[in-house]
Formats: sequence, structure tokens, C-alpha cells
Amino acid sequence: MLKSYQPDSLIPLFPHSCHEVLDRGREEKIYLYPVRVFYEARSEIMKIIVKHNHQPELPPEKKIILRKPGEPQQEKDAPHKGLKGVDGESLQKEPMRVMHFACEVTEWAREQHRAGKRVGFVPTMGFLHAGHLSLVQEARKNADVVCLSIFVNPTQFGPNEDFGSYPRDEERDLQLCRDEGVDVVFLPRPDAMYAKDASVFVDESKLQHGLCGTRRPGHFKGVCTVVAKLFNIVQADVAVFGQKDFQQVAIIRRMVRDLDFPIEIIMAPILREPDGLAMSSRNVYLSSTERENAVGMSRALKSLGSVGAGHSAADPLREQMRSVLERYGLVEDYVAIVDADTLLPVSNVEPGNVALIAAFCGKTRLIDNRIL
Ligand code: AMP
Repeated sequence: MLKSYQPDSLIPLFPHSCHEVLDRGREEKIYLYPVRVFYEARSEIMKIIVKHNHQPELPPEKKIILRKPGEPQQEKDAPHKGLKGVDGESLQKEPMRVMHFACEVTEWAREQHRAGKRVGFVPTMGFLHAGHLSLVQEARKNADVVCLSIFVNPTQFGPNEDFGSYPRDEERDLQLCRDEGVDVVFLPRPDAMYAKDASVFVDESKLQHGLCGTRRPGHFKGVCTVVAKLFNIVQADVAVFGQKDFQQVAIIRRMVRDLDFPIEIIMAPILREPDGLAMSSRNVYLSSTERENAVGMSRALKSLGSVGAGHSAADPLREQMRSVLERYGLVEDYVAIVDADTLLPVSNVEPGNVALIAAFCGKTRLIDNRIL
């Protein structure tokens, strides 16, 4: 019996494994696509029938790209040219694939695992820069194939933050990924990432109390939840995060430990501009004067010099960082020196402690840190 649904969203499952059926009566080839239909807070897996070259009738924003079994993606993919074999011959690499649906990525990862490959993962919010690409390089060293996700996650932005204006440039990002030899870019549609009535979240309860967690309430709940979802989707063996977001890596490591995610977490160093400013997608917000002042962030951290075996009192060092920030017209959000594991402030500084700064440069909030 045919049911009629007004689906909230419709997600194709395993497009590669759809069944081809010949409709004898009409002498037409049709395809049975397994799809997950979300409706009225429930989801159900069902098969939809798609005639050759036809899109199912869905509202335009819900249209899915349907392919015949074995048909290549219609992205402007070109084989990656940068890779060379030991003899200097170009290695034939699969063209980069762009996937919009979670199930496509999961199916791809399963294929990789079946072929005995290790999957590496780099989650990002896009507007990529060399810092992001250094994470891809690190992932490649530790895996056979690399998936990079681009998703400006609404749930990690506060109501007065820059979710709406966060810089985006999909075309440029995809080209950078192609040039870097990324295998799969996962570009989920926002409405396909969260069910309208989503009610399960990951809320770390210790490390988020302090630093950015205090200044941005709810931020790490959003981060942990989306990263947990992405880990489940990408099924990676290893994920690479930047030290730039030191608290984030500490919290993700805690989540992986406490919830037994079977994934290795690597923290990659901070990539900086030649004058020391930590690369960030948000640096694009800075006017030319602000850009000059922004260098005060790394200067403040650098002013701490090297911390030897002897203990130094933390308070004067924090004051020292504050005075550098002030000199560059930067307005402190926080200045801290913490233990790298607990993220609790220390009173005496030891090697391995972390100095962290968040400060406003004009309206732009910048963060930076240094392992002492
Ligand atoms: P974002 O797109 O800002 O969410 O960042 C995605 C990942 O890139 C995070 O793991 C960041 O810590 C990392 N990242 C951002 N900026 C840098 C940088 N300058 N150097 C290294 N990694 C970075």
C-alpha cells in the first residue's frame, strides 16, 4: 500500500548499492534506492523507486543526487596531480569525492576498512588556510585515506556570536582540498545533520569549566556533540585537531577516553603567519590596523621566554602577558597558565604547562596558546 509522507528530510542510504530492476511491463529500467525518511520525529528506512535519469519529486532543497550504480560523481573532479611515486611517475589517485550525506561517508569508510586501509579525519568549519592543510598532511602521515569535513556547526555558536557572518567559500575550499590530495570532503547540509527534535547531546562536565568554556557557554557541548556525530559518521581510525584550540583537543580526548570512541587523536602544532599571528579563518575580519595589533597575541606568549626546570610564579607571568596585550591595544578575555591535562590554573609554572590567551582585537575575538 502506498503511503504519502511530507518528509522533514530524506537521506539516501548507500547510493552505490541501489538495486537495478527492469520493469518488464513498461520495458523501463528503474532503480530501487534505500532511503531514510525523517518525518514527524521518526525515521524509517524505505525504498523509493527512481526511473532512469529521474529525480524523485521532493521539495528543491531536499533534492538528492542520484546516480546509477557505478556511475561516477558529477563533481568537477580531476585526478590529483601532485602525487609522485618513488620513480617520479605520477601516481594515479582516485579523484576527490564530495559527499553531502552521512551514509555515503560511512559506506566509503567501510569500503576503505574492507580494503585494509586506515582512515584519517580532519574536522573543520571551512574557509581553509594553511593551518587546516597542515592537519591534512598530518592525517596523511597516519592514514591511507583522508576525509575532511566542512561544517559551520550552528550549535557551537552563542546567540551573539558570528554564526551568520562566519566566512565561507566552498569552491575555494574544495580546490584547496583537491590540491592537498584529500580523498573525501564531507559537506553535510545543515538540515541533514540534526533532527529537528534532537535531544541527545555530549556535555563534558569538567574541562569545559574555564577558559573558552566559561566565556562561551554551551560552546563545547556543541563541539562535543558534533564531533561525536562526525566520528560516528566517518568511522576514522585517527583524527587530527590543531593545538590552536588547545582546550578543544583536551575535551575531545576526554570524550574519546570516557565514551570509548575507537579513534586516535593527534594534536598538530599551530601554524603561524610570518609575524607570528596564529592562522585563523577569523583573521579575515581584521582591518589593516587590527591586523598589525593582532601580533600582540603571539608576542605576549613569546614574552614568557623559556620555562626552565626551576619553578616560576605564575602570577607575574600572567601580568606580563597582560601588559603586552595592552601595549597592542588588545582587550583581554582571559589570560591563563594551566596544567595541560586538568586545564586548572597553576600557581607555579613548570615545563609542559600551557599559557593561553583570548583577547578582542576590535570586535574580533582571537585565541592563541603556547606549551611552555
Ligand atoms: P576550525 O575550522 O577553526 O574549526 O578549525 C578546524 C581545525 O583546524 C581545528 O582542529 C583547529 O584547531 C585547526 N586549526 C585552526 N587554526 C589552526 C592553525 N593556525 N594551525 C593549526 N591548526 C589549526
